[in-house]
Amino acid sequence: MWCSDFDWAVFQTSGLEVVSHGSVERRFDSETRLSPVTHGLASWLIADGVALSRRELLAITVAGILPDLDGLGIALDLLGEALGIPQSNWYEKYHHHLLHGGLGAVVVLIVTWLIGCRNRRSLIAALFAFHLHLFCDVVGSRGPGVTDVWPIHYLAPFSDAWTVEWSKQWVLNGWQNVSLTGILLLLTWNRAIHSGRTPLVFCSQGANDRTVTVLRCWAGWVK
Ligand SMILES: [Zn+2]
Repeated sequence: MWCSDFDWAVFQTSGLEVVSHGSVERRFDSETRLSPVTHGLASWLIADGVALSRRELLAITVAGILPDLDGLGIALDLLGEALGIPQSNWYEKYHHHLLHGGLGAVVVLIVTWLIGCRNRRSLIAALFAFHLHLFCDVVGSRGPGVTDVWPIHYLAPFSDAWTVEWSKQWVLNGWQNVSLTGILLLLTWNRAIHSGRTPLVFCSQGANDRTVTVLRCWAGWVK
């Protein structure tokens, strides 16, 4: 249904020159409020559905968050600004241009392999979580202005070919993303009751178990 609305385009010039984004500050504010949580919950649910070991859980969950590591240049930008160093633009230059594409997919495979998940199920699930992240960004990562559509340059930083954007992309902190996050939270809750696992398992097995017990009590599973 949405396919007809997608604009598959090959840009001859840099995407940064072609596409207008919102300011770094505004985009960073929006993204840090919502997007990593949504991506993390989505990839966690994929992991919880297919993973047998904690390593697999970690690898698949990381795969769904990893693309946004290319936005960490914001830290250098802000640090430089604080130190009075001539303004850098790492965030605008590399976010969505480094790990949101084929290069990121290769990194995901390498990270999954290094974590020790070398079976086909783990590798495919990690790639799926990664590409779901890209799909979600294409659908719902627009900046505050109606023209602030943010495309995915799948072959960046090597080429501007295979660039995809959706003209009806919804705003990053819009009700659609808030609703999606709420639904994913409910699904995570439901999965925790049934599988006995929550994302807390990465920090503490005890905290995970206590949380699951509380959730099962609320659900009437345990008196
Ligand atoms: Zn992203």
